[in-house]
Amino acid sequence: MKPEEYMDEKREREHKAFQFEMGKIDPIFLDCFFTPQKENEEEIWGKCPFCLKDEHFYINKETNKWDCKHCPKSGNLKKFKGLIPEIEKRHGLEKDFLLPLYTDITFDLFSDSLGNDFPNIKFPERKLLISPFLAEKTITEISGEKGCGKTFLAMLLLIALTHKNKSGSKLKIGKFEVKKNCRAVYIDGEMPIDLLQERFIKMTNGLKRVKNYRIISFDDLSSRKEWTSLPYLTHEGWREEIYKLFEHRQEYKVLILDNISCLCPSMNENNKEEWDTINQYLLRLKRLGVSIIMLHHAGKDSGRGSRGTSAREDNIDTHIMLKGKSELLEGAHFEIAYDKARSFYGKEKAKWELKFTDKGNRIIWEEVKAKKAKRDNFSAFILLLVDGMIQKDIAKHLNKSIMYPINWTEK
Ligand SMILES: [Zn+2]
Repeated sequence: MKPEEYMDEKREREHKAFQFEMGKIDPIFLDCFFTPQKENEEEIWGKCPFCLKDEHFYINKETNKWDCKHCPKSGNLKKFKGLIPEIEKRHGLEKDFLLPLYTDITFDLFSDSLGNDFPNIKFPERKLLISPFLAEKTITEISGEKGCGKTFLAMLLLIALTHKNKSGSKLKIGKFEVKKNCRAVYIDGEMPIDLLQERFIKMTNGLKRVKNYRIISFDDLSSRKEWTSLPYLTHEGWREEIYKLFEHRQEYKVLILDNISCLCPSMNENNKEEWDTINQYLLRLKRLGVSIIMLHHAGKDSGRGSRGTSAREDNIDTHIMLKGKSELLEGAHFEIAYDKARSFYGKEKAKWELKFTDKGNRIIWEEVKAKKAKRDNFSAFILLLVDGMIQKDIAKHLNKSIMYPINWTEK
């Protein structure tokens, strides 16, 4: 087709289009050989620019999604633009004759946004790695006072993700349950490497590794003379290096940062702008498919969460707070509570206690269960008392001696 012929045809299409409510569909359809023939409230249809069949090419007035009931081709505006070379060929136009029409557009925000079929769209499932808190593409903060055992927990999470029991079963850490093993990276900015190694050996005793892991230790790197700078998160170059590491090895799904103060040494934690750089970076990693677990020292008043800007709270999915329960020379014992949990609630959000004990060649962990039975009797006693029952009858009711409620003392 010659340019003059194209112009004639275009004029004719525009003339026909004049009778329709064309303002709601993109002019590119007319430019590219769609001839309108009918319409209702929702759609305009007419001659297909691909197969030339009359009254078979439908365009939705609102979304500009289109489909031909004959060819059959369908798509959104962006896809239509992608098919223009095919139209040029079909109509005997020189290659790139229609190019000026579609060079500037790469996105189609309106038709790529989600519409009335939103409830029926199947999205890829976000897999749970460790129940209940660690899902793919999430940010978790673990905070607690210095020395309460954050590193014990973080290392155990790395081990749990990458190891199984000898029997082949996935690991259980009290109320935490591994659902899916995956590769993980641990960046440690604080621990002496020999101590980290000793703990690692003791914790993995009796387990078998099923996934690869990498440990980036500041202590280890600084002992090598070629490492004149350390991979701090406050350094843009290093942030990009860490990003690339995950971009090129997408089978690595989890990044554990131990801990924020060590990895962002000169940052003013109370400054929102300074934290924002790190925050945007963590969100970028998350979009890449990485789940981040970051450790942070709790502020002076540990009940009020971790120190630093509250802006950090805004973008995390789960905030786990650890509270030391007893001082252990070799090991740790703390309570696990949730300050924020976006994706789980109820029973799963309940507090519980975890204890690590050093047995010489092994470090074992167990959930410390509260002595519930006693407390239940006491609760029952109070309830019956409130109900107006006298002590003698309560004792009989609970099958206890009459002295029982009086002697009851909280530990
Ligand atoms: Zn067609």
